[in-house]
Amino acid sequence: MLHEKLSSIYENVLRRNPGETEFHQAVREVLESIGPVLGKHPEYAESKVIERICEPERQIIFRVPWEDDNGEVHINRGFRVEFNSALGPYKGGLRFHPSVYLGIVKFLGFEQIFKNSLTGLPIGGAKGGADFDPKGKSEREIMRFCQSFMTELYRHLGEHTDVPAGDTGVGQREIGFLFGQYKRITNRYESGVITGKGLVYGGAQVRTEATGYGCAFFVEEMLRARGTSFDGKRVVVSGAGNVAIYTIEKVQQLGGRVVACSDSSGYVVDEKGIDLDLLKQVKEVERARIEVYAKRRGGDAIFIPGRSVWEVPCEVAMPSATQNEITGRDAERLVRNGCIAVGEGANMPTTPEGIRIFQEAGVAFGPGKAANAGGVATSALEMQQNASRDSWSFEFSEQRLRDIMRDIHSRCLATAEEYGMPGNYVAGANIDGFKRVADAMLALGLI
Ligand code: GLU
Repeated sequence: MLHEKLSSIYENVLRRNPGETEFHQAVREVLESIGPVLGKHPEYAESKVIERICEPERQIIFRVPWEDDNGEVHINRGFRVEFNSALGPYKGGLRFHPSVYLGIVKFLGFEQIFKNSLTGLPIGGAKGGADFDPKGKSEREIMRFCQSFMTELYRHLGEHTDVPAGDTGVGQREIGFLFGQYKRITNRYESGVITGKGLVYGGAQVRTEATGYGCAFFVEEMLRARGTSFDGKRVVVSGAGNVAIYTIEKVQQLGGRVVACSDSSGYVVDEKGIDLDLLKQVKEVERARIEVYAKRRGGDAIFIPGRSVWEVPCEVAMPSATQNEITGRDAERLVRNGCIAVGEGANMPTTPEGIRIFQEAGVAFGPGKAANAGGVATSALEMQQNASRDSWSFEFSEQRLRDIMRDIHSRCLATAEEYGMPGNYVAGANIDGFKRVADAMLALGLI
C-alpha cells in the first residue's frame, strides 16, 4: 500500500515514463517502503527530494554502428542513464542483451542508487547498455561492437564523473575492449574510469567473484540471524553466468549443497552437487549451453529443457539470472517445498507478488539491492586501488567484501527494526539506502 503523498508521486512517474514497466516496478517497491520515513522526516516531502530522485540527472541514448565478419553493417542502440551523483561519481554496469531498452536501463539505474548508497562507499548510481545480442558473435565482432560503443560513450565518462562496469553480457573480455578504446581515444591511462578490469591492467582481486561471493555472505548472515547456517542445506541457484558461478563456489565452500542451476535454454539437476570445474569449463571457456554440462557429467545430472529451475525443491533459493524470474506461483511452490531463505544475486529477480508470498510465509528474503551489492562494492574498492596506484591481496580484498556484506546485513536489520518492520530486509534496504542519498541531496542545495 502506498502512503497518499507517495501514491501521487508514483502516478506522476507512470505519466512521465509511459510503457517503462520495469522502471515503474522498481520505483513502486521503493516508495512502498519509505512511507514510515515521511512521518519522521517532513523535510523530505517539503524539498520534493523523492520526486527528484525518481528523475534521472541525465539520460544518453546513442547509435552504435558496427560491422560483422562478413562486412555487413548493423545498428544498435546504446544507453547510459546517469541517475544520481549525490554520493559520488555515477557508478553502475553495462548490460548487452536484446531485451535492453530505456525502461530496463532506468530500472537498473534506479536500483543502483540505493544499492550503492547501502555499501556506505562514495558512489552515485547509473546504468547503461545496448540492445546488442552477444550470443553467437565472434570475438572480433564483440571487439568492434565494444569499440563503437565506447567511441560515443567515452565523452560522458571519467574517474570522477561516471564509472561503468559489467552486467549481463559484459564480462572481463568486454571491459578490456571498452577500456582499450577509452585509453586510445583520450590518450589517458585512467584506470579508475571503468571497473571489472583484468588483473594485469588495473583490475582488482575478488572483483570477478564479488557479486556471487557477496550474495553467499549475505545469505550466510540471514541464516545466522535465524540460528542456522549453510551447512548441509540444499540450494538452488538460477543462471550460469558470472554471478551464479561464484555464488555456487562460495556456497559450496560454506558447506551448502547446490543441486541445480540454469540458463535460458533450461536447467540441470545434479543431486551429487554441481561440479564447478565442469560448469566453468562449459559456460566460461566454451560459452556453450547448460545441456553440455549434463552430457559430460554423465548419469549423475539431468537436463530439463525449457522449464523453470524453481520447480526444484530447495531450502535456499539464490536467483542469479534476470529480472522477474520468480513469479508468485514459483514463490508459492518454493515455500511449499520448504524454502527458508532467498538471496537475490540478480537485480529484481522476484516479482512483487513473489516477494509478498515469501514475506508472508516468514522466509528470510534478501533483496538484490542488499544481497548483490558486493559486486559494486568491490568495484568501489577497485577505484580506490586505482586512485592510490595500489593492489591488494586476494585475502585482504575478500575480508573487506565480507565485512561490507555483514555491515549491510546488520544495517538492514537495524533500520527495519527502527521503523517497526523487524526482519523485513526489503524495507531496511530501501529506507537505509534512500536516507543517505536524500540527506546528501538536501545538504548539496537544490540539485
Ligand atoms: N552490474 C553490477 C550491479 O548490478 C555491478 C555494477 C558495478 O560494479 O559498477 O551492481
